[in-house]
Amino acid sequence: MKILAIGRNYAAHIEELNNERPDEPVIFTKPETALILKNAPFYYPDFSKNIHYEVEILLRICKNGKYIDKKFAHNYYDAIGVGIDFTARDLQDKAKEKGLPWALAKGFNGSAPISKFIEKSEFKDIKNLNFSLNIDGGQKQIGNTSLMLFDYEEIISYISRFIMLKKGDIIFTGTPKGVGAIEIGNKLEAFIEDEKLLEVEIK
Ligand code: MG
Repeated sequence: MKILAIGRNYAAHIEELNNERPDEPVIFTKPETALILKNAPFYYPDFSKNIHYEVEILLRICKNGKYIDKKFAHNYYDAIGVGIDFTARDLQDKAKEKGLPWALAKGFNGSAPISKFIEKSEFKDIKNLNFSLNIDGGQKQIGNTSLMLFDYEEIISYISRFIMLKKGDIIFTGTPKGVGAIEIGNKLEAFIEDEKLLEVEIK
C-alpha cells in the first residue's frame, strides 16, 4: 500500500502558513513505514525541534484505478478515518526555501498515525463532517470537510492521472487551521464529530 497526501487544501490553513493558494492540488507521499496503528505512541525524533500536528480526514481506496474520471471517483473509496500528518516544520521550511522536496519532512518514521476506518455509508454526509484534534484535553484544531478546496473526487481524479491508485492505499485530505508544535508528554486525540477515533501519546 501507499500513502498519498494533499497539502494546502483549506484556505485558513494556507493563510496561517503564508502559503500561496494552489491552482492544482499539492501532492506528496509518505512511505508505509510512516504509519502508526492501534493508538501506539509516537517517539519524538532527534532530527527535528519543531514537529507539527495536522489533523486530517483519510480516504481508504477500495479499487485499483488510473485516469479516474471525477464523476466515477466516488466508487474508488469506501471508508474514511482520521489521521495526523506529522510534519517536521523546521525541515520543511528549509526545503521550501531551497525548492527541495519534502520527503524527509513529511515521511519520517511514525509521521502518519491513523485511526480505524469507518464505511462511508455510515455517515449522513461525508462532505459536511466536523473533525478535530485535542491536545491534553484542549481543542487545537477543528475543521469541516465542506471547506476543502479540492473535494474527495477531485483529489482522487487528480492523483490517479499521475499515480495509479490501488486497493488499500490511503489518502490524507489536508489539514484545517490551527496547526502547531507537539511536545514530549502530550496526549493527542482526534475526533470525527463527537467520536474519538485516534489517540497518540508523544514519547
Ligand atoms: Mg497535511
